[in-house]
Amino acid sequence: ALSERLSRLVKTMRGQARITEDNVQDMLREVRMALLEADVALPVVRDFIARVKEKALGQEVVGSLSPGQALVGVVHKELAATMGAGGVAELNLATQPPAVILMAGLQGAGKTTTTAKLARHLIGRKKKVLTVSGDVYRPAAIEQLKTVTQQAGAEWFPSQASDQPVDIALAAVDYAKKHYFDVLLVDTAGRLAIDEAMMAEIRALHAALNPIETLFVVDAMQGQDAINVAKAFKEALPLTGIVLTKLDGDSRGGAALSVRQVTGAPIKFAGVSEKIDGLELFDAERHAGRVLGMGDILALVEQVQQGVDLQAAQKLADKVKSGSGFDLEDFLSQISQMKNMGGLSGLIDKLPAQMTGGKTPQLGAADMDRAERDVRRMEGIIRSMTPLERRKPELLKASRKRRIAAGAGVQVQEVNRLLNQFEQMQGMMKKMKGGGMMKMMKRMGG
Ligand code: GDP
Ligand code: MG
Repeated sequence: ALSERLSRLVKTMRGQARITEDNVQDMLREVRMALLEADVALPVVRDFIARVKEKALGQEVVGSLSPGQALVGVVHKELAATMGAGGVAELNLATQPPAVILMAGLQGAGKTTTTAKLARHLIGRKKKVLTVSGDVYRPAAIEQLKTVTQQAGAEWFPSQASDQPVDIALAAVDYAKKHYFDVLLVDTAGRLAIDEAMMAEIRALHAALNPIETLFVVDAMQGQDAINVAKAFKEALPLTGIVLTKLDGDSRGGAALSVRQVTGAPIKFAGVSEKIDGLELFDAERHAGRVLGMGDILALVEQVQQGVDLQAAQKLADKVKSGSGFDLEDFLSQISQMKNMGGLSGLIDKLPAQMTGGKTPQLGAADMDRAERDVRRMEGIIRSMTPLERRKPELLKASRKRRIAAGAGVQVQEVNRLLNQFEQMQGMMKKMKGGGMMKMMKRMGG
């Protein structure tokens, strides 16, 4: 797996002070393999590696970073920059209504589903939305669009299998004008593979409709072949955006990089479930982490690099691994580190889902501030304990708690709250034993 590759990479580079022509070759070979494993197409990988090499060469390796870590950082940044060039890209509706959006892509890519999702998204932006199907080859596909359009709460324009796609679409434009629709979404027929008839048809639709958005819908699970499909559509149509579907699957989504590179069009949306609300604005930063196969651990590592005492983390990791108890002394050391890393909430936000039991706590700025204050108070409370109490929290009965509370200038409830939090953390540490954050930090730590 990629994360293994990368951590091996991080390890082999230990003890070298900068990225040089000498050490960069090995590192880049690993990165190259990693990208291929994520299904990025070979020519795209080549280009990408060349760019990374140029950016990385001669880079000073700061602080406690190894050159391997520094390179992973460069790779991550370049990936995010490539996939997200131009920032978050919303739909362009700046035209005389109806704004026509043409959906293009292979059969099964998710065009019909995405049409309904976009209808829902646009209704959320207070738009009046009409959909129409140009898929005259499969009557079931027309029915499918009708069903999902109704689920989205938009209006569906009827079409029949005996009609010509261009005629249907123009009739829908007419209807949309007469009834003051803001947006007309035009779903189209796909084929299982690129073929000339399909391309001719969608070109004809494009010419007749002159859409403000022409979206290329592509399945993230498509893998290496995505590049050829993207090329064919790019040659046939002036694409204005990409929708990457089925990101809820287990692919690493390397297709995003290939498709972005080949079409030059921004990735605007990501499909994340079969459901009508399973559409998100594409987040390049996050997706770069996914392509690298390490979730948000990269961001965590970045924070760790900024502030944490790696030796303390390592000591703690050893302790957890050796199975000796996690006590309040460890908790204190962890709290101090969290302070450096931007607080508990910042840390939890960055943990990959598998470490937080699949749930990512949703925390806002106010929560952050509160967490920061809490961390400081917790620190104060533990510092008011004797070393023995820190090692044996079970000693903390009412009278000791009162003394500690007085010493820290807080209420006894605060002490109880801290002990609860400690117990939670203790539980979490047990769960992470052998495979968690500390191990990861250790590996990345150099
Ligand atoms: P089309 O042939 O391009 O119109 O593709 P469809 O919209 O009919 O989608 C093909 C299949 O993929 C359907 O079973 C959809 O439910 C499914 N699908 C589309 N988008 C997503 C997605 O983002 N996540 C998941 N899990 N399934 C999706
Ligand atoms: Mg369809």
